[in-house]
Amino acid sequence: MTARALGHVWLVGAGPGDPGWVTHAGLEALRHAEVVVYDRLAPVELLSEAPTDALLVNAGKEPNRHAMTQDQINACLIEHGRAGKRVVRLKGGDPYVFGRGGEEAIAVSGADVPCTEVPGITSAIAGLAAAGIPITHRGVAVSFAVVTGHEDPTKHSEQANWQRLATAADTLVVLMGVGRLEAIAEALIAGGRPADTPAALVQEAATSGQRVFTAPLSAIPAAAREHEVRSPAIFVVGEVVRLREQLDPVTLSPLARRRILVTRSRQQASTLVDALRLEGARPIELPTVETRQRVDPAAVSNVAFKLQQGRYAWVAFTSAIAVDAFLDALAETGTDARAFANTRLCAVGAATARAMAARGLIADLVPNESTGEAAAAAMIEAGGIRNEPVLLPRAESAHPALPAGLEAAGALVESLTLYLSAAPADPPAEVLAAIRRGAIDVATFTSSSTVKNLAAILDGDLSPLGGATIACIGPTTAATARELGLEPDVVAEEHSVPGLVAALRHHLWERRPTVAGVEHAS
Ligand code: SAH
Repeated sequence: MTARALGHVWLVGAGPGDPGWVTHAGLEALRHAEVVVYDRLAPVELLSEAPTDALLVNAGKEPNRHAMTQDQINACLIEHGRAGKRVVRLKGGDPYVFGRGGEEAIAVSGADVPCTEVPGITSAIAGLAAAGIPITHRGVAVSFAVVTGHEDPTKHSEQANWQRLATAADTLVVLMGVGRLEAIAEALIAGGRPADTPAALVQEAATSGQRVFTAPLSAIPAAAREHEVRSPAIFVVGEVVRLREQLDPVTLSPLARRRILVTRSRQQASTLVDALRLEGARPIELPTVETRQRVDPAAVSNVAFKLQQGRYAWVAFTSAIAVDAFLDALAETGTDARAFANTRLCAVGAATARAMAARGLIADLVPNESTGEAAAAAMIEAGGIRNEPVLLPRAESAHPALPAGLEAAGALVESLTLYLSAAPADPPAEVLAAIRRGAIDVATFTSSSTVKNLAAILDGDLSPLGGATIACIGPTTAATARELGLEPDVVAEEHSVPGLVAALRHHLWERRPTVAGVEHAS
């Protein structure tokens, strides 16, 4: 008898909204999933962590509009589990906090399918934290209660005893309560909670759409109506709400919650995106540069031959992409790093030098500044330029400053085109819409082509970024931005991603808000 593959279901808590707030165990389960059944509150960004061939099932659960009923969800988990699959049931917050995780685990194990519950951080705690409200605080609140607002406070049959809850805990957190705020607030006041107790609503906590409104308990229903607060939202009552003045993430850290446009190519974006996310920013990716190979094999063979002969005095690399593209092209001709033995090597930028080192080439010269002019000046000063052949492996549309500077000093410059940097064909529509409605706080540019291509993508009009902080990696990029009508606010002194992030942090920290709260209802 052949043993059938034994499937497994992981009930994974995804946290309240920030994709970085999933546990390590949850992420591991997701990365090995064959089927992912997710609901509305689980951050969509996490779905890209699943293997590309995983089956993604939307279990929906909009209020009053269920894509799948609970029975259908249970049946779906059981069916794939019985078929021997690794199934991840991805849920918002923690699976056992009003998430019906217990019911699902009981159903799955009852059907003889193994099951593991992976806890998540609940919105009841972390969603408040994202708004700068600590659920407890020494001397302010020593207890909390989390309750569902789903039950009707005017009915006697309900399980939640609002009048008793009113004073039972210092901090009261209500989930799923948006539709019943009026009745809940009244019941709490009737139960002895003072009408002027500070309260808050946190809509879409820990996401880029987060909105926070504070008001005294009695005024919360009106505030919710005025600002059209919708589900999902957390309703919190208690003195801890006042601490938002000091603990709002935007007052604690310069990058927190900033919507930061990242315009680098998809392959290069991750170092910047990760650095921004680490400090609580909301990076929004719009790759404006796509590299396409443009290699002429005959030209590469010719260059490979001359390189081996030691004919070039210098080879200067101006980007990490150029390093890899050139070494890959050389490898095609059977040429490796030994061919550079009699040639001096210049790396423009630390990232370029690192890319060279990864391929076994140590730069003889890394100019202090990463502009074409500065690189030319540094090479001229290092000597051996006049009447000497200098090879520049580079992009088709590369900036002319470096070859112009070298030629002016008498060098015999030879450019080898390896790739073309072009604007991508189909930029994501939702990101373009966000730019056009002014929903970007900071735009980052890491090369002139990122500025030029973004302008092209926006039909030549960069004015929707007029209200955003403009951050450029160096003076060449800044000059291009100025030419296209964008005044840079930040120009990094060190022309690298860490340098750009450092300059941006500094700029924003000096201008951080002194009073808490982007929006206040009262
Ligand atoms: N298991 C989830 C809660 C599920 S009940 C958890 O532990 O967080 C669904 C309710 O949770 C929503 O109606 C809302 O009140 C709250 N909620 C979940 N995620 C939220 C978010 N990102 N922002 C605001 N409220 C959220």
